[in-house]
Amino acid sequence: MIKINDLYVEYQVNKGILGGKQIIHAVNGVTLEIKKGEILALAGESGCGKSTLAKAVLQLEPIKSGEITYPAQDLRKFAQMVFQNPYASLNPKMKIVDTLKEPLEINTDYSKDKILAIVKEKIKLVGLDESCLELYPHEFSGGQRQRIAIARALMLNPEFILADEPVSALDVSIQAQIINLLKELKEKYGLTFLLITHDMSVIKYLADRTAVMYLGEIVEIGKTEDIFANPLHPYTKALLGAVPQIDKKDKKVLLKGDLPSPADLPKGCKFHTRCPRVMEKCKTCHPQEKGLNHIVKCFLYE
Ligand code: SF4
Repeated sequence: MIKINDLYVEYQVNKGILGGKQIIHAVNGVTLEIKKGEILALAGESGCGKSTLAKAVLQLEPIKSGEITYPAQDLRKFAQMVFQNPYASLNPKMKIVDTLKEPLEINTDYSKDKILAIVKEKIKLVGLDESCLELYPHEFSGGQRQRIAIARALMLNPEFILADEPVSALDVSIQAQIINLLKELKEKYGLTFLLITHDMSVIKYLADRTAVMYLGEIVEIGKTEDIFANPLHPYTKALLGAVPQIDKKDKKVLLKGDLPSPADLPKGCKFHTRCPRVMEKCKTCHPQEKGLNHIVKCFLYE
């Protein structure tokens, strides 16, 4: 559905009190396919480049080099986004009915009656009652607001949804409801999702495939069940080790240090400064992708 080829994204930031600028190398040579009807998860620590990659996919971030190809001309109708904080993505001064009407009023020439009928259809689709249309965002719980934000994202019948940490701002008790709603939308309507989250348990439940990012590179990608059953890259093992599992203490790999700055990328394998399996050549040489369906970038598999 979407093909990303050798994508690089970088931007400049101020250095702070020292003055001057530095270049942040946020995405470094990502090649990836998002397949029709799948949920592809991007996993990794904050600062690993997953949100920048996602914004570049939606053309919200300029790319330095590389290519992204889409099956549609009009990206606004083809793709929509669901954000982490539903309260921030809804206008507090607008009734829900007006918030939901807006994308259709701007992008179509449908009659008022037709627009209202679609609004009612979408609000039911996300499990809410028509009576909530006359209310304002502050009158809802966090989970209900996220349902409304999802309804708004669905107004133009997109084929592709980018969900950026869609449940991490919600109470744990509500998270499962929203996760199930996303799964239902995928299964019933064939929607394609790019799911960005640091929460490996959300990925395990929702994603068909998982791509693990480290300092702007995909270091491992495969079917979610394969990534969880047989993680190959030392970084993936560490990410999975960070998920609390009392009975799997022996699998735990603890990482040394913090994520290096994307302004000053390590040479060789970008993970070598923290890798428990580091070898001499990892410090100077860059590993290439190995594998067909379960792909890893690490010298341990060459
Ligand atoms: Fe670790 Fe070397 Fe593999 Fe990089 S290439 S993940 S440093 S073993």
